[in-house]
Amino acid sequence: MPRPDFDVIVAGAGPAGGMAARTAAAVGLRTALVEEHEQPGLPAHCSGKLQLHAFREFDLPASLVMNTLRAGAFYSPGGAVFRVRREEADYQPPFELVDYVVTVQNRQGRGTFAEANVKINIKGEIVHTAAEGNGPVNALDAALRKALTPLYPQMNEFHLSDYKVRILDGRNGTAATTRVLIDTRNSHHQWGTVGASTNIIEASWQALLDSVEYGLWEAKEEAEAHV
Ligand SMILES: Cc1cc2nc3c(=O)[nH]c(=O)nc-3n(C[C@H](O)[C@H](O)[C@H](O)COP(=O)(O)OP(=O)(O)OC[C@H]3O[C@@H](n4cnc5c(N)ncnc54)[C@H](O)[C@@H]3O)c2cc1C
Repeated sequence: MPRPDFDVIVAGAGPAGGMAARTAAAVGLRTALVEEHEQPGLPAHCSGKLQLHAFREFDLPASLVMNTLRAGAFYSPGGAVFRVRREEADYQPPFELVDYVVTVQNRQGRGTFAEANVKINIKGEIVHTAAEGNGPVNALDAALRKALTPLYPQMNEFHLSDYKVRILDGRNGTAATTRVLIDTRNSHHQWGTVGASTNIIEASWQALLDSVEYGLWEAKEEAEAHV
């Protein structure tokens, strides 16, 4: 019997294995998907929740939807909490972005530096700040802090402890989607936020805004709990 010849063999035909096999086959790799159960995809573990992107990906009919969740909270076993609060009816954001401009310059005698202008709406008041940084994200971070610190002094306690950039779909070259993960800490907590965009500055900005908004929201919750 001739030996089967594959570039990729994926063990397990669950959602992860199925997607991995599909992706490998789509780029022309000879792919085998093996499953220990007779019927791939079974037993199906689904208590009834599906993310919106899965609906779009598989073009599922709207008649399948019984309830739509617009907000939630996820608790990891390690105690880290990520909350999606923005869509909740009673949620008041501590600030809202109006716009930002960031430029990167390389000038003779000075080298490379960046300058950011940030305009945000804090409780109905438009605050406009500018700051320089050694790179665009550093400059945006500095301008955002300048705008928010007078009203939210707890910003002084937020420190970026990690900043990771990863290209998700390298096949698209310089148009690839970039995912940015930011870890922020204060004296007693650490939290992580994520941004994704085909523009690395926008991805970083999303992660940065979420990190600040989450930190301020958490500080407010803590303050209210101690009243
Ligand atoms: C009770 C329950 C309810 C859930 N409800 C939801 C929900 O409502 N919405 C949602 O999005 N997610 C839900 N989940 C989570 C979801 O089922 C998992 O996230 C998902 O199945 C993980 O996919 P996976 O491909 O990583 O692993 P699995 O689905 O576990 O797939 C792994 C596959 O590999 C096969 N396999 C293992 N070892 C081998 C081997 N050596 N050789 C060949 N095949 C092998 C297994 O038989 C299996 O088919 C639920 C999970 C549970 C347990």
